[in-house]
Amino acid sequence: MKQFSIPLGKFFGIPTTIHWTFWILIIWIVYRGLAEGSDRVEILWYVFFVFVIFACVVLHELGHALAARRYQISTRSITILPIGGVASLESMPEEPGKELVVAIAGPLVNVAIAIVVWLFLFATGQWESALENIEEMTTIHAGNFLFALLSVNILLVVFNMIPAFPMDGGRVLRALLSFKMSRVRATEWAVNIGKIFAILFVFWGFSNNPFLIFIALFIFLSAQAELNQVRAADLLGGHTVSSILMRDFTPLRTTQSLQQAVDVMLNGQETSFVVLDEANEVVGQLTKMDIVRGLSEKGVQVAIGEVMKPEVQWLTANMSLQEANDLMLRNNIAIAPVGERGNLQGILDADNLQEFLMIRSALGTTRTSI
Ligand SMILES: [Zn+2]
Repeated sequence: MKQFSIPLGKFFGIPTTIHWTFWILIIWIVYRGLAEGSDRVEILWYVFFVFVIFACVVLHELGHALAARRYQISTRSITILPIGGVASLESMPEEPGKELVVAIAGPLVNVAIAIVVWLFLFATGQWESALENIEEMTTIHAGNFLFALLSVNILLVVFNMIPAFPMDGGRVLRALLSFKMSRVRATEWAVNIGKIFAILFVFWGFSNNPFLIFIALFIFLSAQAELNQVRAADLLGGHTVSSILMRDFTPLRTTQSLQQAVDVMLNGQETSFVVLDEANEVVGQLTKMDIVRGLSEKGVQVAIGEVMKPEVQWLTANMSLQEANDLMLRNNIAIAPVGERGNLQGILDADNLQEFLMIRSALGTTRTSI
């Protein structure tokens, strides 16, 4: 389905794409228009209107992205979905003041658009008549287009500022709470309040607007994921890679057969391996999943070099565990060599990192219950 996504190019260096599911919205609008007996011109105006709204959504996301850039946080991409836009920031600033700025920058763009449109309507003497004809806003046409655009931008501001984490209002709420309490506590509060709104969205969505149900689902899933991330960051705080560095491990070689990887796996505890070439350089990683896939696709005699993943992410022993965790998650790394090229000191295994988190979190609960 990916081929139906439309790359819009780069804005301020950020690749921006319309996700293929966006077309469902357009098809839905055309279908509704036809079913309600609207004529072709009316439907075209409506489709055009939706594109202009989503242009405003792109500008909203650019607001977040450019605010984040002020704090040296880059944005990987902006994606336009039928439920709105998503700017994939590398991270969120942890200082509440900065998070507040990044969160509010998006809605402020819509405030700015609304003001510009209002000034234009006012200056051209259309404002009065627009207000008088407000009841006739059932269809979009040249006469009420700008007024409708103004209204939608105000709606976007109001909707985004609903304190449903991780929507903008929820981020503002978390930032404000973070001034008073720890980031983990603030996130827990923001997530729980967000879930209440998500439930309201579901009820409202069933009777009015099905898109709200998708937004509720997005809130539920991404809020929980972000809470887990914040908790992990908190638990990992103050620890370095050296605390769970494994010095005793079995490296595999590109020239060995998959059979040998299976033997090592079955005879020990290791499930992920770093792979070395003839010059003893780390050139890839081999996980249990890679082994299983390799066995079913190529058999036991295939060379490890042919089934390994060539991603290598070097870590250093004094790197913070939080940074190591972020790097491994972001780059989809299961096992990382620690040290530097030519000096492999040990490895860090993502499974061990998860165990470490579980133990730390169990200790944490014991401590608070005393
Ligand atoms: Zn936003």
